[in-house]
Amino acid sequence: MVDEKTYTLIDGRKIAAQIKEEITQRVQELKQEGKKVPHLAIILVGDDGASQTYVDHKVKACKEVGFHYTMMRFADTISEEKLLKHIDQVNKDSDVDGFIVQLPLPPHISVERITEHIRPEKDVDGFTNRNFGSIVSKNPLLMPATPFGVMELFKRYNIETEGKSCVVVGASRLVGAPLSMMLIEHGRATVTVCHKYTVNLAHFTRQADILVVAVGKPGLITADMVKEGAVVIDVGTTRVEGPQFKNGYALKGDVDFTAVAPKCSFITPVPGGVGPMTIASLLLNTLRATELRNP
Ligand code: NAP
Repeated sequence: MVDEKTYTLIDGRKIAAQIKEEITQRVQELKQEGKKVPHLAIILVGDDGASQTYVDHKVKACKEVGFHYTMMRFADTISEEKLLKHIDQVNKDSDVDGFIVQLPLPPHISVERITEHIRPEKDVDGFTNRNFGSIVSKNPLLMPATPFGVMELFKRYNIETEGKSCVVVGASRLVGAPLSMMLIEHGRATVTVCHKYTVNLAHFTRQADILVVAVGKPGLITADMVKEGAVVIDVGTTRVEGPQFKNGYALKGDVDFTAVAPKCSFITPVPGGVGPMTIASLLLNTLRATELRNP
C-alpha cells in the first residue's frame, strides 16, 4: 500500500519567491514613476558564521528584487558608544530607507540599547518598542519580521485564524510575544501563550487548532501533543551537528515532523517553512518604509 499524504506542506520558499516577484514588480514601477528605489543597510558586528550566512541571504534577496543595499561591518571589539554613533549616522542618512543590526551582538553591547536607538521608521526588522506596540494599531508601522512572515503564510494558504484556538509556544520578544499579539489583533484568534514555566505544556498544545512553536528545542513537540487536523507552524531553527549530515550539520525545528505531520491539516517544514518568510518580510518592510518616507 502506498502512503498518501493527508496534510498540506506549507512551502515558505514558494511563497517567499512569490513575494519577491511582487516586490521586483513594484521596484520597476517605482523606477518608472521616477520614485526612490528602496535602500537597505545592514550592520554586522563580529564574524559569527551563522550571522554571516543570514546576512549573505539578505544581501542576495536585495539583489534579486533590485533594492540598493549597503553592508557595514565592524569588529566585535567595537564599543557600544561607537556603534551607537554609526547608528546615528544611518538614522540621519536620507538615502537609507531601512536598516538592521544583525543579532546576536557581542556580550558587552546591550541589544536593547542598540535596538532602541534605531529610528522606528527605519526599523525594518520591527524590533523597536515603538514597532512592537504598533501591532495593536489598525495601521501598524513596521511589523516584527518573523511573526509578520507567519501571518503572511496564514493569509496566502487561506488558513482562517478568526475564532480559532491558537497556541503559541515560546514568548520571546522577537517571535512568540509579537505573534500572539498579531493573532489577537489582526487574526481575531483566541490565543494561549506558553513558555518555559508553563506547567503541562501538552495540555495546552492539544487544544490548538493552530499551534505555533518558537522555542529552539528540537523534538519538543511530539505527536501526542498535537490535535488531529491541527495547523502546525514550526519557527524553531536549531543547528544540530553530526557526521550523518551532509555538511556536518542540519537545521532542526522544534516539532518531530515525521511523527506529527500525519496528524496535521497543514504543517511547515524546517528548513523551507518560516525561515524564507522572515527575509520576505524584511523586504516588504523595507519597501513599506521607503514608500512611507517618499510618498
Ligand atoms: P528565545 O529568545 O530563546 O525564546 C525562546 C522562548 O521559548 C522563550 O519564551 C522561552 O521561555 C521559551 N521556552 C524555552 N524552553 C521552553 C520549553 N521547554 N517549553 C516552552 N517554552 C519554552 O528564542 P527566539 O528568538 O524566540 O527563537 C526561537 C526559535 O525560533 C529559535 O530556534 C530560533 O532560531 C528560531 N527563529 C527562527 C527564525 C526564522 O526566521 N525561521 C527567526 C527567529 C527565530 P522563557 O521566556 O520563559 O525563557
